Amino acid sequence: MLTKGRSQIFLDSLMRTLSIEDKVGEMTQLTLGMLCDGSGPYTLDEPHTLNEDKLKKAIVDLKIGSILNSGGHAYSSSKWNTLIEGIQAAATQEKTSGIPVLYGIDAIHGATYTSGAELSPQQIGLAATWNTELVRKIAESSAKDVYESGIPWNFSPVLDLGLDPRWPRFWETFGEDPLLTSDMGEAMVLGYQEGPYPIAATLKHFYGYGMPLSGKDRTPAWIPERQLREYFLPPFERAINAGAKSIMVNSGELNGIPVHINKKLLHDLLRLELGFEGVLVTDWEDIKYLVSRHKVAENYRDAVKLAIDAGIDMSMVPTDLEFPEILLDLIKDGEISEARIDESVRRILHLKLELGLFENPIPTTSVITSEEPDVKNYTRQAAEESITLLKNESDALPIGLDRKILVTGPTANSLLALNGGWSGTWQGDDPKYSNSERPNAAEALIQKFGQDNVINFPLEMDFDESDIDKIVSETRSQKPDYAILFLGEMPYTETPGNIEDLTLFQNQKDLATALKSTGIKIIYVFIEGRPRIFNEIEPLADGILMAYLPGDYGGVALSEIISGDVNPTGRLPFTWPKNASSHIPYFRKHTEDIHTDFSLNAFNPQFNFGDGLSYCAASIDSISIDKSSYLIDDTIKLTVSLSNKSECVATEVIQVYISDLVASITPSVERLRHYKKVNIGPNETLDVAMRIPLKDLGFIGIDNSYIIESGNFKIRVNSFAKTFDLIK
Ligand code: BGC
Repeated sequence: MLTKGRSQIFLDSLMRTLSIEDKVGEMTQLTLGMLCDGSGPYTLDEPHTLNEDKLKKAIVDLKIGSILNSGGHAYSSSKWNTLIEGIQAAATQEKTSGIPVLYGIDAIHGATYTSGAELSPQQIGLAATWNTELVRKIAESSAKDVYESGIPWNFSPVLDLGLDPRWPRFWETFGEDPLLTSDMGEAMVLGYQEGPYPIAATLKHFYGYGMPLSGKDRTPAWIPERQLREYFLPPFERAINAGAKSIMVNSGELNGIPVHINKKLLHDLLRLELGFEGVLVTDWEDIKYLVSRHKVAENYRDAVKLAIDAGIDMSMVPTDLEFPEILLDLIKDGEISEARIDESVRRILHLKLELGLFENPIPTTSVITSEEPDVKNYTRQAAEESITLLKNESDALPIGLDRKILVTGPTANSLLALNGGWSGTWQGDDPKYSNSERPNAAEALIQKFGQDNVINFPLEMDFDESDIDKIVSETRSQKPDYAILFLGEMPYTETPGNIEDLTLFQNQKDLATALKSTGIKIIYVFIEGRPRIFNEIEPLADGILMAYLPGDYGGVALSEIISGDVNPTGRLPFTWPKNASSHIPYFRKHTEDIHTDFSLNAFNPQFNFGDGLSYCAASIDSISIDKSSYLIDDTIKLTVSLSNKSECVATEVIQVYISDLVASITPSVERLRHYKKVNIGPNETLDVAMRIPLKDLGFIGIDNSYIIESGNFKIRVNSFAKTFDLIK
């Protein structure tokens, strides 16, 4: 690793040798399909192979500095290395500058595009573990698979908030809460960048992407600056401070301005205020979309000028060769200064240098020689810790291994369903690229309960009444003790996942209703990326598990939880709405509680943020704080006393909510300010000490900056609350 001074000397001298052509090439990113045999970037010949002419044109002649993506599906790690070796050979041996290519990939829940790599729960499930150490480990092991595929740059984590469950990328987030998202995001960045196999993280999508007004992907968001700063900015700020090396821009428009041309956000906020020094990359084709979708530029040339002026370092073009030519032309015509370009090129080269690409253009050929760092795979643990038990009437769960179970529903027999989008392929819908040795939920339950104890009815998403009739009549004749219904969604992401209605599919509701009539116990297991509305059939269930998109080990983890070998400890990282038009977060404002009859109980979600049950649970018995009034520089010393009256080890997520009772900007009913996941042995008691600096209890005030106001506050853990004053 070069020291700061030496890397500056290196970059200074390298910059001096570069032509303008070299520089615009560095700022260009193409998709792999542009370099492969086939009739177009999306229609490649199998097996995907580098095409010498295309490679020469892009890498050597146009000096393209970055490539991303797979050609459409996962490859083995050795195939990846072969492809990247070919690209790097052209860059380092044939291109005049000899600068290696920076390869980027979306490895968003494990190495998405490396076949055989273990896929962990998607981010929404990771958030449900409330376990940042585990998330850091998950990121480390995912970095190992990416690194070993020869790739040094990952387009992860997503730091948008999951505030609108209609949004088809809801599951790519860590849920609705800014604190939980900040903690998880930081853990993931550190796991990627500072583990034994370091790769660069990308924070995405900067910013305000996750709450489009229509709930549909890449449609306009209207979010005032105060709310942006209060809720949406903290996760990015924290991850930048943790050293995140790159950021991807929000593809949408925010308050009428496509973010790709918003200099106030991309330069003033990101560079001047937050001090971000890394690489700012566009999202897919977004400069062109300024012309074809956003209509803020008449032509590609104007669009390039707007985006570069706003502060973009690298354009994810990714399927044309015009971008570098246009940029060159703009510089030659004096419309963009070379000094402006130099800033971006320097950042890109600095990233290449930090990643060690000048010494080893393919990460795999670098450090790892004799002593291989140990990176355990934590995907199974993460799946187990994410799954969230939301209802358990009369201890319906766990189910003894001697019981007979009916396993059905459209997500029961599908590994694809467990993994969701970005799994083997972009939409995650091609079983050819799944890890076939991992059992789906039905297979895992059969392994656990034995073939004779499981009646399995696989269903497709569009199953109909005749399927339901068959299942009901079989249930009546075979008399299983339980029906385990795997409900939810099949994979999607981005625009293909847009929906018109958040309500659970009618045929799934019909299936539940029909099975209830047989009199057996009903368990719902939701495999889905967003909470679908199911209030009509909620009362029919004896038990409800939310599995999110639990990944390759989701089936096994579910079988362990359903049978009671694993105690469920997941907690919801979002508020599950009961009705389709009332998706508001737990940190709502007081007026959102006003009902039509003026009572204050309008907030009535299906399940609240932080909810989750366990078979083996501790109880919170009391809380205490060290003072009744504090000064601004003080820290609240909170003690939470728990006891475990059972014979098993209990796990509890202590959640500390604080309400600012009166404030100059309408306060939230409450905000999560601290949390801790703890284990308590059988028949033990435990006092957990927690520290909350008063400085953390502020908010974005009327002039859009952070303030802390004196006054009365309430601190709550479960049903225990205390009040205190903050005196200035
Ligand atoms: C997505 C990004 C992703 C990029 C590259 C885009 O469509 O919005 O999240 O990183 O593609 O694959």
